[in-house]
Amino acid sequence: METVHTTPMMKQYFSIKADYPDAFLFYRLGDFYELFFEDAKRVAHELELTLTAKNGKNAEHPIPMCGVPHHAAQGYIEQLIERGYKVALCDQVEDPKLTKGLVKREVIQVITPGTLMSSLTEKENRYLVAVASREGRYGIARGDVSTGESALTSVHSIDEVCKELSVILPREIIVTNETDEQALSSLRIPITRSERKESHPTGSEAIDAAQEEAFSLLYAYMHDTQKRALTHLQPAVVYEASDFMQLEPNTVRNLELLRSARTGDKKGSLLGLLDQTGTAMGGRMMKRWIEKPLLSKNRIEERLDAIEELLTHYFERQQLKETLRNVYDLERLVAKVGYGTASARDLVQLKTTLVQIPTIQSALEDLLSERLGMLAAELDPHEELIDLLDRAFVDAPPISSKEGGMIRPGYDAGLDELLLASKDGKSWLASLEASEREATGIRTLKIGYNRVFGYYIEVSRANAKLLPEGRYERKQTLANAERYVTPELKEKEALILGAEEKSVSLEYELFCEVRDTVKEHIQSLQRVSRRIAELDVLVALADVAEQHDYVRPETVDSREVMIEAGRHPVIETVLPRGEYVANSLELNEDREMLLITGPNMSGKSTYMRQFALIALLHQIGSFVPAKRARLPIFDQIFTRIGAADDLVSGQSTFMVEMVETEEALKRATDRSLILLDEIGRGTSTYDGMALAQAIVEHIASEVGAKTLFSTHYHELTVLEESIEHLSNVHVRAVEQDGRVVFLHEVRDGKADKSYGIHVAKLADLPTALIDRASVLLEELEKKERHVQHGPPEKKAGYEDIDQLSLFAEADPLRESVATLDLINMTPLEALNTLYRLQAEARK
Ligand code: ADP
Ligand code: MG
Repeated sequence: METVHTTPMMKQYFSIKADYPDAFLFYRLGDFYELFFEDAKRVAHELELTLTAKNGKNAEHPIPMCGVPHHAAQGYIEQLIERGYKVALCDQVEDPKLTKGLVKREVIQVITPGTLMSSLTEKENRYLVAVASREGRYGIARGDVSTGESALTSVHSIDEVCKELSVILPREIIVTNETDEQALSSLRIPITRSERKESHPTGSEAIDAAQEEAFSLLYAYMHDTQKRALTHLQPAVVYEASDFMQLEPNTVRNLELLRSARTGDKKGSLLGLLDQTGTAMGGRMMKRWIEKPLLSKNRIEERLDAIEELLTHYFERQQLKETLRNVYDLERLVAKVGYGTASARDLVQLKTTLVQIPTIQSALEDLLSERLGMLAAELDPHEELIDLLDRAFVDAPPISSKEGGMIRPGYDAGLDELLLASKDGKSWLASLEASEREATGIRTLKIGYNRVFGYYIEVSRANAKLLPEGRYERKQTLANAERYVTPELKEKEALILGAEEKSVSLEYELFCEVRDTVKEHIQSLQRVSRRIAELDVLVALADVAEQHDYVRPETVDSREVMIEAGRHPVIETVLPRGEYVANSLELNEDREMLLITGPNMSGKSTYMRQFALIALLHQIGSFVPAKRARLPIFDQIFTRIGAADDLVSGQSTFMVEMVETEEALKRATDRSLILLDEIGRGTSTYDGMALAQAIVEHIASEVGAKTLFSTHYHELTVLEESIEHLSNVHVRAVEQDGRVVFLHEVRDGKADKSYGIHVAKLADLPTALIDRASVLLEELEKKERHVQHGPPEKKAGYEDIDQLSLFAEADPLRESVATLDLINMTPLEALNTLYRLQAEARK
């Protein structure tokens, strides 16, 4: 064992691996990357590779090993990274041909979930985030290696860090200590503990100690993993979490801002609807705008003005869209330049992008909005750069920078000369072929080339004897042919190959020079890229407004809301045109809360979300789906959805629901918007009702936030009488031929019936069950009428209802079946419920 484990190679391996204990070490060996020991076992398992032993399986102490071909390594590495692992890429850093003994190896890059450059989804950022605390605050620094974007903020507590991160959704988090690591572990994002090595300037002013610390930590980590200068890192943008509307993760999810709740895709979400951007950086900016709605009236109006201008200038807008289609991902191209990985093809794409700028500017010439004017003025076309790139590169250079073919003739005289020499050489070869054929009389004689033997004259085996003696030196014998060289050919070959080799390396040098020149303009190019992105987003918002007939909302300073004929922006596009039923909404100082009743499936949730989405669109600076809208600026939007108990995970979602609600109540202000959708349905009826009532009362007396509360507990509609600013509204449904027809119309006042049973009928429950439920309902309704006619101070009159439940105890199991809210259940919930019912039945 000693001998194998202490070979020079294994020693080298151990000493490198010691520096990267938390990464899989991909150790370059010939054409493979190999992994050893524990790394090998785990990677073989993850990637389903064959596990072998370095010293043979039957060795006394086999060294587990597995490997991947180096040219295919990328795909394997990405799989590991996507699963949250890190990979240290260890390469040969000397030419093996020039070294005796063991080749020197070094880790050239550490690839981690937060710094993976390839396999990027175009329109998404891949953020790495560092968190550090100092002087009672927590700094949060985030960066995207692929775009060079970075941003900084600080908050008061680790809880707030958690919230901010659940909006940013980084791929990897760096912390300095175990406490923070534990506090953030619930996010289920890979966390790395790291130390700051030295401080690094942020390039931004007015930052606090915590932000500075976080940024240094971020920078150090990027630097240590990427192992190169990060010249493309843009100066960090400093923001206050309170500069923007606070959207908690729940709201992002429930309102389906970025992803459809059902499919998890962008399609079916607000982002999916709005993102008609033409460029990748525009797409990323659109996402950021949705995640961070504005609080400043001026900035909202600025965007609205721009959209209005774009809407009225149809042709200019079309021209902009057309032009933007030719724009490449400038932000990432520039990042590649800074990173030193840009190819000539990338630089040509950069040129193509810059060339569009004058067209963009001319399209914007007649548009008067302040913001558009500013964007147009600040778009620097970089004419000198365009000129340089145009002179330097051919129109379609190859991806590789090391094989020539990139530089345009006329750019460099020396290169032209070399190219001419090799070209001349090649035409000389062509004429040689002709003259050799003539001299030998062999018409099939040809001149060929391969890497090992260079240029040769090839004749078929049968014809070989026709060659005169002496002049031809045999080089290679094939099955049917012989290959020869002549002194003349050898001489020319040296010239041609020499010129080619020189031209390739000269091209590379010239290419690097140009790239370095571009590098000097990184910052101004990044500015251009941000301007184009913003323009792209504004054009997209104007397009959406036009396609779906949105109006410009009016921002009011009061706390009044007036929406006339509002629609749910996403659902209306799923339904056939014109089928969505528009609904109005009015809130003011006297009418702060709405209690929404109505049968299941009538549109309560939709109505609430529609309002929240309109409010949000307004604060993104977008037009809104309505006939008219006057809206205040909301500081936060909270959404709470009542859930059924989740038996599978064994966790009481009701408990979670209550904890979350409590938290919302603590943070909400009278400038917030709260949506409570069937809160309390996760527990038994009276519990749930009592809690729901207590929550509404609390918001009314302590918070004063605008609140929409939907419920299928009719009993709660009596709250209107005891809570001053609460009004009942209901979603209308009518009964036709024993079936319920949903009208989706929201009206003042409470709903008269729950219609739950009719919905069950729609869902095709057995007739006997429906009948039994109808009988029970009748009984319940008799009692309820009694309750409602009682004095209002008695509130919901729980005592009376309690007696009802005694009555129902004749068969509790049957009652639970009858009252199941089937239509709102997922198949999984239904299965869980059936499981529970069976367990009860077997008791
Ligand atoms: P509830 O919350 O009352 O159970 P939802 O809001 O979930 O009902 O709406 C159920 C379905 O009814 C929606 O998926 C949608 O298809 C349809 N719907 C809701 N509101 C409208 C509307 N205003 N116009 C047309 N269809 C609607
Ligand atoms: Mg609902």
